[in-house]
Amino acid sequence: MDMGIRGKRALVCAASKGLGLGCARALAGAGVNLVMNARGAEALEASAQAIRDDFGVTVATVAADITTEAGRAAVLAEAGDVDILVNNAGGPPPGMWTDWDESDWLKALNGNMLTPIALMKAVLPGMMEKGWGRVINITSVSVKAPIAILGLSNAARAGLTGYVAGTSRQVAPKGVTINNLLPGTHDTDRIRGVDSGTVKSTGKSIEEVRAERAAAIPVGRYGTAEEFGKACAFLASVHAGFVVGQNWVLDGGQTNATI
Ligand code: NAP
Repeated sequence: MDMGIRGKRALVCAASKGLGLGCARALAGAGVNLVMNARGAEALEASAQAIRDDFGVTVATVAADITTEAGRAAVLAEAGDVDILVNNAGGPPPGMWTDWDESDWLKALNGNMLTPIALMKAVLPGMMEKGWGRVINITSVSVKAPIAILGLSNAARAGLTGYVAGTSRQVAPKGVTINNLLPGTHDTDRIRGVDSGTVKSTGKSIEEVRAERAAAIPVGRYGTAEEFGKACAFLASVHAGFVVGQNWVLDGGQTNATI
């Protein structure tokens, strides 16, 4: 299917690996030129070069921490007038509700709520002026089904979700859509790190840990960054202009809910 976005320009945050990279590659496959960001310059440039080689689109890179004001300023200066924004950043660490103090909360809120809001505030006026734009926020299935040890993530991402619910209706009349993608378990460095932790704490093999986790997912496997990216590209496409303020759960059926 032609996504109808060939030649458009996208900013993809936190995109050197994992789900952000999956989104960047799927957009590039649809002919979109990219500005990619991550903190580590080496992995970022390697991923960007692979995209240039594979898809022939232009890719600029900005190595910066997107959760800082200076990082966002550098990224936005390079990105300029974008048509598509994919918001992403690392997730907060796990823990117990009894442990988190104000500084933990401020860090989580900054990374997973205020940073994407600041980036939307920066690019939405240009999109509205042009009469076309797409914002896709990578959040988490924990917005729909809380994961207790990820309370910082549950709360910060729920705050972003509330912001999107209202704001998406305000910008839709100008041809701009904002939607959220809610990943369940995907085979990325982050989940591999969590699985390694389970290996250490249980003494089980990595194969056992992964098999047990996969067995809890109705499709019987982890998701891939590639298929996640394709969902992102569809939301960014001309075909998704009627999808506004939605929260798409991509979890292989793991969240047991009717709607
Ligand atoms: P990942 O494989 O660890 O990749 C994270 C990417 O983000 C890397 O490119 C990393 O590069 C970049 N990054 C991290 N913090 C950054 C920052 N402050 N500024 C700029 N770039 C940053 O993670 P992932 O699995 O793709 O997860 C992406 C998001 O989805 C996270 O918020 C995660 O919590 C959420 N999520 C993932 C899953 C899953 O199954 N994978 C499930 C639910 C939610 P650098 O380290 O070089 O900056």
